[in-house]
Amino acid sequence: MEDLELRLQAVKPRVAIIGAGWAGLAAAIELADAANVVVFEAGRVPGGRARSVELDGMRLDNGQHILIGAYRECLRLMRKVGVDPQQTLAAQPLAWQQIDGISMRCPDWPAPWHLLAGLLVANGLRWRDKLAMLRLLTWLRVRRWQIGQDVAAQRWLQQHGQSERLLQCFWSPLILATLNTPPAQASMQLLANVLRDSLGSSRGEDSRLLLPRVDLGALFAAPAVQWLAAHGGDIRLGKRVTALDLTAQMVDGESFDAIIVATAPYHALRLVNAPALTNLLKAWQYQPITTVYLQFAGRVTLPAVMTGQAQGLGQWWFDREALSGEAGLVSVVISAEGAHDNLTHDALLAQVEQELRRAVPDLPSLLGGRVITERRATFAANVALPRPDVRLPVKSGYLAGDWLCADYPATLEGAVRSGIAAAGALMQDWTTRT
Ligand SMILES: Cc1cc2nc3c(=O)[nH]c(=O)nc-3n(C[C@H](O)[C@H](O)[C@H](O)COP(=O)(O)OP(=O)(O)OC[C@H]3O[C@@H](n4cnc5c(N)ncnc54)[C@H](O)[C@@H]3O)c2cc1C
Repeated sequence: MEDLELRLQAVKPRVAIIGAGWAGLAAAIELADAANVVVFEAGRVPGGRARSVELDGMRLDNGQHILIGAYRECLRLMRKVGVDPQQTLAAQPLAWQQIDGISMRCPDWPAPWHLLAGLLVANGLRWRDKLAMLRLLTWLRVRRWQIGQDVAAQRWLQQHGQSERLLQCFWSPLILATLNTPPAQASMQLLANVLRDSLGSSRGEDSRLLLPRVDLGALFAAPAVQWLAAHGGDIRLGKRVTALDLTAQMVDGESFDAIIVATAPYHALRLVNAPALTNLLKAWQYQPITTVYLQFAGRVTLPAVMTGQAQGLGQWWFDREALSGEAGLVSVVISAEGAHDNLTHDALLAQVEQELRRAVPDLPSLLGGRVITERRATFAANVALPRPDVRLPVKSGYLAGDWLCADYPATLEGAVRSGIAAAGALMQDWTTRT
């Protein structure tokens, strides 16, 4: 028996995964039974661009995140590592609640009925705009969400009858929130893919918004690391890989059967010596996301748990007290580059607080605030951006990360799917070879 176990152990590949973001962790979980996995993570905590941070004694997320019901692989892996999405995520039927624009609540019905019902009673839209939006979504649906040659979302939407108001109060905020890219340069095809899997899905729950009730570490990364450790994984936090030899399959002088590089693209460029990849990534751009945390002295009652603002710096306000019980805490998200980049943290805090006070006049006094800007939060989801394959042009070398999932912009779901795809390719190659 022991002999058999030893033999089985011997045929398992020894796999190095560089990066414990959601992509690297997903790959490690997928491989845990079939491989001996070692995960190298430069940071002291896992989670990468979706992690918890300690800032002046406060435990905050590096950025407010939202998931949607269509993030099936994220939800599956969460359950696998023991996280109950029903406890850790506040699920809401699709709603669009702007303080100065459109208010719309869609019931939890399959497409297109939820949107039809939502638009019928939406506030802040003329009938002409409601019809234009319905016409456009029907157009996309009939064409199976394929637009043909990719173009910039803003131009395409204008050409398809969307008014200035619709652009300002609906499409632009949606593009910023989902693609983190200015609408004038964002890919319409990627936006159509996002619409297909959310608004266009026949499963009503796919379009639900899932807002974290716990910090990002507790949502996935920490339980994933615990689960991996319990399943024989070797997780090395605080270990930045500096020397990678893909041909010899060596990571910092240690030998492996296969290697998955699961870092952001700009870090992969430093590690991987592959001219085709370097050429492809040369033209890539990156976009920031800023999260402003405002700590008030008492309860803050926002119009909705997630409230939008069409004009102003703060794009979305989140009621953290309602979500996670953090008394008096509000987080404000500003996606993509803009005027806010030129402000000092103090000036930005003051302006964001002022905007909030204008909309919610009886706000308690402000105790303090923090600004967290992730300068290269995501790659810019530009028009017709070519994406690399998970297989590197070298035996047993693979890539994972949100940038590999060609169907999606940079998202948690894209990251997890890429990790699963890299693990699948690796095991397929390994079983063919052995
Ligand atoms: C502020 C912010 C808000 C966001 N909001 C949303 C949202 O609402 N919804 C959504 O779906 N997505 C959102 N995203 C995007 C989402 O967070 C990312 O798409 C996802 O986390 C990327 O995961 P990843 O594993 O591909 O990469 P990463 O998270 O970047 O993981 C790569 C890991 O590799 C490690 N690493 C790099 N180099 C080395 C090395 N040499 N050795 C060892 N380790 C190394 C890094 O430390 C990192 O932990 C947001 C991102 C940010 C920054």
